[in-house]
Amino acid sequence: MKIKSLLVLGGMVITLFGCGNPDDNSINIFSVEDDKQLGAQVNQEILSNPQEYPVLSESQYSAAYAYLNNIRNKILNAGEVYYKDEFVWEVRIIHDDNTLNAFCTPGGYIYVYTGLIKFLDSEHELAGVLGHEIAHADRRHTTDQLTKAYGLQLLLDVLLGGNQGTLTEIASGLTTLAFSRANETEADRYSVVYLCPTDYQADGAANFFENLVNAGGSSGTPVFLSTHPDPGNRVQNIQDVGVELGCGGTNIFDQEYQDFKNSLP
Ligand SMILES: [Zn+2]
Repeated sequence: MKIKSLLVLGGMVITLFGCGNPDDNSINIFSVEDDKQLGAQVNQEILSNPQEYPVLSESQYSAAYAYLNNIRNKILNAGEVYYKDEFVWEVRIIHDDNTLNAFCTPGGYIYVYTGLIKFLDSEHELAGVLGHEIAHADRRHTTDQLTKAYGLQLLLDVLLGGNQGTLTEIASGLTTLAFSRANETEADRYSVVYLCPTDYQADGAANFFENLVNAGGSSGTPVFLSTHPDPGNRVQNIQDVGVELGCGGTNIFDQEYQDFKNSLP
């Protein structure tokens, strides 16, 4: 126990002196290893609670998962995700048509609700949302935000394996964890940065947010809007980034997306 705690402290000291993304000015007190470990712990917690998180079976819905993983791979292989090889980037589907949400743990375990998937109309929109969630982990917003929500000491206890209660709380809190507007703006921007080198129309996230605003509260619970506060002019900002970066992709894959939706329960 003592050695483990020294290791964690060692990680903290290192990060305090400026690890992280090269163009990231914020100080994250956790090391990248801590992100990976905390993510794995939270992921285990989610998978061990099928009542709260009815995750679709990957063997039973193998075509749906293959489709989703292909989108993820296109984004990762485009070369803009900083922790592409360090984080796991596992995507899972939660079967809950009434929840319009997606979330990502530290270290890259991504969860998408069927309520969100069914709300969308085309593949580039889902790619945009995945890009946004990938950014929250890749830019390490999630550990930042968890530190604010739970305090450093509780998270360190969890990392040391000594606080199962808090781990359970964090897992359930992740689904409703709200990010700062600055983090939202950055995740929106990186969603375009990640998609830009692909054949996708890179501002897919803008279409999603536009539809979300137009739908108001009528289509399921718009949890996404409460956990992803509107940084203002979000749709316009996302489209502007696409223009600024000169993104040339035009594919939206709407027919393929309908087939994907039809393959879900
Ligand atoms: Zn967000």
